[in-house]
Amino acid sequence: MLTIEWDEKSGWKTPEIKPYQTLNLDPASVVFHYGFECFEGLKAYRDDKDNIRIFRPDRNMVRMNSSAERICLPSFDVDTMIKIISEFVKVEKDLIPQKKGFSLYLRPTLIGTDAALGVSTPGKALFYLIASPVGPYYPTGFKAVRLEATDYAVRAWPGGVGNKKLGANYAPCIKPQREAASRGYQQNLWLFGEEGKITEVGTMNVFFVFQDKATGKKELVTAPLDGTILEGVTRDSILELAREKLDPKEWTVSERYCTIYEVEERAAKGELVEAFGSGTAAVVSPIKEIGWRGKDINVPLQEGKQSGPLTESVAQWIGDIQYGIVDHPWSKVV
Ligand code: PMP
Repeated sequence: MLTIEWDEKSGWKTPEIKPYQTLNLDPASVVFHYGFECFEGLKAYRDDKDNIRIFRPDRNMVRMNSSAERICLPSFDVDTMIKIISEFVKVEKDLIPQKKGFSLYLRPTLIGTDAALGVSTPGKALFYLIASPVGPYYPTGFKAVRLEATDYAVRAWPGGVGNKKLGANYAPCIKPQREAASRGYQQNLWLFGEEGKITEVGTMNVFFVFQDKATGKKELVTAPLDGTILEGVTRDSILELAREKLDPKEWTVSERYCTIYEVEERAAKGELVEAFGSGTAAVVSPIKEIGWRGKDINVPLQEGKQSGPLTESVAQWIGDIQYGIVDHPWSKVV
């Protein structure tokens, strides 16, 4: 693990890389009482020339600073932190298998560590990073999921902290997830407001593909970054690659809200052609059904397959960059 202590008098101390071990914290530490905690998730990959690569670490570190700033934890210099994490990854490189789909998952975490029961700005903090080798999310190919459109609980709201990666955003989502699971749905499709705006799915951003019957034109849609949506690194990568690769005569790429009512209506017209979640863990996760008010909205899959064609292409585009098969500035050799 990597640890870096901070206090308000002397700032960041010298980073240490040491064997994985428990933390020794005072039970009064503010992290345990008031949720002074934020985290990140990113991966290191081994390419076929044995280089170790990290995918867009700058994005994760900028997001971590933004999360930290919101809960009055200290920020850090992004380039310096990427250098430190790269050193850690070099030390642990033997944990990364050389096989597409395998990687080393990195979990940077920042907590407030003052032992004080008063709620105020933390004067002491600990940054730490733990890591674990992970295999492919879909070892035997995609497995499309069933979602329950959830309107009785909300993940995030205007003026809240939905765009920050705070631990406090995650614990309250488990109960609705278990309730959905008890009805046979793997994840929640989080809705917001009376209009039923679709925000995210589980802990992923969400994309829909519609095809207009009259014009034949397709639209790739995801929710806009209005402060309630986590600014996913995968989301951003998909938007940029889609704008670069999809023929604008056939496609529009939109950051706009679509509602559960639009999805329901367009599915009935045969205009809903694909849906998938996006995130670091799986890259993309195809969706096959959405439970809404007692009925299931069906999302088409390709004949004999568990995803739509764009879902497959997106997984390929991003995988090829992560594993250095295609040269791209997003994939940094450490
Ligand atoms: N939304 C939420 C709520 C998440 O926790 C995550 C995972 N970090 C994402 C979206 C996807 O973000 P990313 O593509 O950066 O992994």
